Amino acid sequence: MTKLTCISPVDGSVVAERDYLTTTAAEQAVQKAQQAQKAWAEKSLEQRIDVVSRAVANIGMMNDEIVPELAWQMGRPVRYGGEFSGFEERALYMASIAEDALAPIDTGSNEQFQRHIHRVPHGVMLIVAPWNYPFMTVINSAAPALMAGNTVVLKHASQTPLVGERLEKAFLEAGAPDGVFQNLCLDHGTTASLIAANAFDFLSFTGSVPGGQSMEKSAAGTFTGMGLELGGKDPGYVMDDADIQAAADTLIDGAMFNSGQSCCGIERIYVAEPVFDDFVQKATDIVNGYRLGNPLEADTTLGPMAHKRFAALVREQTEAAVQAGAKPLINTFSNDDGGAYLSPQLLVNVDHSMAIMRDETFGPVVGIMPVKNDAEALALMNDSEFGLTASLWTTDIERAAALGNHIETGTVFMNRCDYLDPSLCWTGVKNTGRGGSLSEIGFHNVTRPKSYHFKKN
Ligand code: NAP
Repeated sequence: MTKLTCISPVDGSVVAERDYLTTTAAEQAVQKAQQAQKAWAEKSLEQRIDVVSRAVANIGMMNDEIVPELAWQMGRPVRYGGEFSGFEERALYMASIAEDALAPIDTGSNEQFQRHIHRVPHGVMLIVAPWNYPFMTVINSAAPALMAGNTVVLKHASQTPLVGERLEKAFLEAGAPDGVFQNLCLDHGTTASLIAANAFDFLSFTGSVPGGQSMEKSAAGTFTGMGLELGGKDPGYVMDDADIQAAADTLIDGAMFNSGQSCCGIERIYVAEPVFDDFVQKATDIVNGYRLGNPLEADTTLGPMAHKRFAALVREQTEAAVQAGAKPLINTFSNDDGGAYLSPQLLVNVDHSMAIMRDETFGPVVGIMPVKNDAEALALMNDSEFGLTASLWTTDIERAAALGNHIETGTVFMNRCDYLDPSLCWTGVKNTGRGGSLSEIGFHNVTRPKSYHFKKN
């Protein structure tokens, strides 16, 4: 395959075509990143933060063009205004903590010894990004990586090629020296061969489990360090003392926003038996209020899925669940076209023998199950190969904390969901990945420790 073709989920038209880089051109670009890295790392932290902050502001200035461009590429309705607020919030937060997070650790200097641990950049970082939040997933690792003195090579998703181009333009116009931030149009084979040839000092991958596995396979034997932010099957648990309306509003938004194509989207909901019917009724009313349609129209609240092949997988999982006894609560929407435009769905009478309650769905469908008590909810929440977030709904913070201690997950939420707080580490367990981005720990993951042990006399 020599050409990337991005097909719009809006109407099947071609949004962009690009030639993939040849292996030689890709190798030359990586060399440029290697050559630029030392001078970049020798700039002051303040200078590097300035470049990143200006690049972020440049993206903000392009936002009016970016919002419809995103809708064309991956179908998110324009009414949500793109990703700039989260993108900026994360970058500025990381800038605000950079000095402390990257400061040397004095482990006890005295008259005879000076002993420090410094944090030094890895070198050249490859960022491989997904299309579902194509700006925010890049900035999670690009901002701390660049601030810490790494140079970045970005391989963006073939569904959102224009995002990588926007980011490169923003960094160049912000004064990033040549080679510091490059967006490369790479196919899988060239990406794999660069990784296998030890071209990168660290790799940050956000995407599917099979994608993460292929990164590990390509890197086998090279010792390339890797952060993996992979899939999820995030649960919500509504307890008997919860505010049911708030739980329904937030969990259903968490399940349906971005047509369910969120790594930390709510994919299964457990509800205490006494409040089950009330929750299900409220959830049904909310879903029936969605407007599925063209994402460029202002009143559309639910766009098409990013590609009709993604919608086909969701239809398949839903149909299999219904065949096995699940009950769908939502009638097919009139503009469900059997392709990328997919009706949202709530399923009851579900159980964990069904793929819809086990595998990542990544679409606007969620199963809802009644539970007898916290122990049953805990067992069901942990009955998963994934662990990104879990959302608990209760007015009892101690009950949430006690339960949270036993949930196998990266983040425990109480009375909220589907939000990345940049002061907390974004991380997962089990097949959801390894490592973590954002927070002070995000800086640790884009640097390596270097120890200094000096005897003064
Ligand atoms: P994907 O198919 O794995 O693709 C992600 C990125 O990896 C794309 O740039 C893709 O390039 C590239 N890629 C995949 N396989 C590759 C290979 N063998 N060699 C080189 N590059 C490869 O995932 P997606 O469909 O874009 O994103 C959805 C997935 O991402 C979901 O599972 C979601 O849960 C996960 N996700 C996780 C997080 C998190 O924070 N944990 C955040 C967002 C998304 P091409 O486009 O060229 O194939």
